[in-house]
Amino acid sequence: MNEYLNRVISQIETKNPNEPEYIQAVKEVLGTVKPLLEKHTEYEKLAILERITEPERIITFRVPWVNDKGEIIVNRGYRVQYSSLIGPYKGGLRFHPSVNQSIMKFLGFEQIFKNALTGLPIGGGKGGSDFDPKGKSDTEIMHFCQSFMTELYRHIGQDVDVPAGDIGVGAREVGYMFGQYKRIRNAYEGGVLTGKAISYGGSLARKEATGYGLIFYVREMLKAHQNSFEGKTVAISGSGNVAIYAAEKAMAHGAKVVAMSDSNGCIYDPKGIDLDLIKQIKEVERGRICEYLRKHYDAVYTEKTGADSPIWEIKVDIALPCATQNEVSLNSAKSLVANGVIAIGEGANMPCTQEATDFFLENGILVAPAKAANAGGVATSAIEMSQNSMRYYYTFEEVEAKLERIMINIFNSCKENAEKYGCAGNYVAGANLAAFSKLAEAMIAQGVV
Ligand code: NDP
Repeated sequence: MNEYLNRVISQIETKNPNEPEYIQAVKEVLGTVKPLLEKHTEYEKLAILERITEPERIITFRVPWVNDKGEIIVNRGYRVQYSSLIGPYKGGLRFHPSVNQSIMKFLGFEQIFKNALTGLPIGGGKGGSDFDPKGKSDTEIMHFCQSFMTELYRHIGQDVDVPAGDIGVGAREVGYMFGQYKRIRNAYEGGVLTGKAISYGGSLARKEATGYGLIFYVREMLKAHQNSFEGKTVAISGSGNVAIYAAEKAMAHGAKVVAMSDSNGCIYDPKGIDLDLIKQIKEVERGRICEYLRKHYDAVYTEKTGADSPIWEIKVDIALPCATQNEVSLNSAKSLVANGVIAIGEGANMPCTQEATDFFLENGILVAPAKAANAGGVATSAIEMSQNSMRYYYTFEEVEAKLERIMINIFNSCKENAEKYGCAGNYVAGANLAAFSKLAEAMIAQGVV
């Protein structure tokens, strides 16, 4: 069986040159499913590994738009429709200059496992563009979003493919894209995008869902090891959607969040981060995190100068990487462990390098893996879709209660699968095993398609 695994990994490396993030994500999953392959020897004949690692469809397209100076700019758009095995393709759109096919494929691949773990009927996809929203005027953002949707609309639909937000795409961008979709289609199809504003079909608690869900998952993981958030110090990288609401819920659970960051650097405030100020700077002013010092003179700002993020040098009990992929290197992992960290909760997708994850696990650190721990966002997106179909709204409390239940179920499923396959306490493997077996079962049931 090892031979089958090695052969497929080697084929993937050959077939996807120059796609390091995609190869990393695939190897991370395949590296943990050996016990499943040993149990299900039929997987080889059925080409399960080959099928699960090949996206159903990849769409790339030109996105031309005109900036405020009248110049024509051309960006590249992507949609990776990875798997429709258990529902319509579902996954966010990322607008960031680093976006390329490798990153889109890794995110799409992760998404199919994450969505399977939610227990809800959603397949997996991901998309975005190398457009950089930073420094753009509101009009430029609108023009870009309209041009992007003018092409994307033909590939999506509420029963086909349902995008949402991700890095650089929040309620504002979703609103502009939804408006353009509705205009082209001449129909209100509320469930075609999620992360909408409440005024036209969004779900209460969707904005908070990924961050809150992360804390629910980490809370369950700590509880399973007779521990809790109460009185713990926490560092959270990023200061976007996931980071802000993870901070809010961690504080509500009695933790003290002492550090947050953006791509330029991090702030350390030992008396506890002033989250209202962070929301003002990031959600209202769209400013930089160093502006935190304008009110809290005694906080420390450290600029990011090298490859490693300075936030992981800070001594904390719990680290929640909520910014981007590979932001926790082996060096950073070593610093965190030397400083006594007890748990890592991945809010971002694949934020730890493989070496960092291995180092944490070897040192007995609890790791809440992204595809399970940040699944609250997409789960609540599915709840938004069901509200749109019902033409009905749940209250904030109703959505949050559903989210909490889903996160508890996801944690239990990771725990049970880790125990069942002989790696108790390793929730990274547990998540992969739980999701992989569900996808393989659906794949076998649906025949060779
Ligand atoms: P946002 O755009 O709201 O925030 C991203 C944050 O991360 C910002 O503070 C940003 O700083 C920082 N960041 C982005 N890229 C880099 C980089 N290359 N290096 C250092 N810092 C960086 O995005 P989200 O909060 O929505 O997403 C964060 C992560 O969570 C992503 O990995 C995303 O895939 C994942 N995720 C998001 C979900 C959601 O519901 N939004 C659901 C599940 C996962 P700056 O402003 O300086 O760029």
